[in-house]
Amino acid sequence: MFFLPDLPFPKDSMPQFCSAETFDFHHGKHHAAYVNKLNAAIENTKYAEKDLETVILDSHKEQNLGVFNNAAQHWNHTFFWDILSAEGGAEPTERVREAIERDFGSVEEFKKQFTDYSTKLFGSGWVWLVQTPEGKLEILPLPNAGTPMTEGKTALLTLDVWEHAYYIDYRNDRAKYIDAFWGVVNWEHVGSLLK
Ligand code: MN
Repeated sequence: MFFLPDLPFPKDSMPQFCSAETFDFHHGKHHAAYVNKLNAAIENTKYAEKDLETVILDSHKEQNLGVFNNAAQHWNHTFFWDILSAEGGAEPTERVREAIERDFGSVEEFKKQFTDYSTKLFGSGWVWLVQTPEGKLEILPLPNAGTPMTEGKTALLTLDVWEHAYYIDYRNDRAKYIDAFWGVVNWEHVGSLLK
């Protein structure tokens, strides 16, 4: 049985990015629905007693999309809330900046590429900054419920580009939503995930 975690910030704390109404729907309706559907899908199955990462990896391997999609969306949203902060948006912390400069040339170039992937990802999905097992940073755009753990990569940062993430505040203007995202990235938290 999985539970919807509380948002790690007040719903009205980031109006420069998303309104309280958006967080109300995105967390309270969409994320909650994934948790509820996941619980219904795993009830009385071999997945019922497993931890979330095992459920994601096993259901992915077995192509059990009814379980995988809801489990991965639960994990992805929980991860997403943690990298947002009203105090965020400044420059990356030193270790993160050095890793980004090593693998993308500059922070500006990284943001440009990440923005470009986020703008162009067709339909619904997530754009991730990940670290490979070799330690390299990469941008990984994944459709639908895609999540880096099935690729053997460590998630450092993500942006939800499902329309439900921005429609209330931005209507169809995904580019404006992506632009505002850079103002709330919690780089301290991103740095804590770096290996
Ligand atoms: Mn979402």
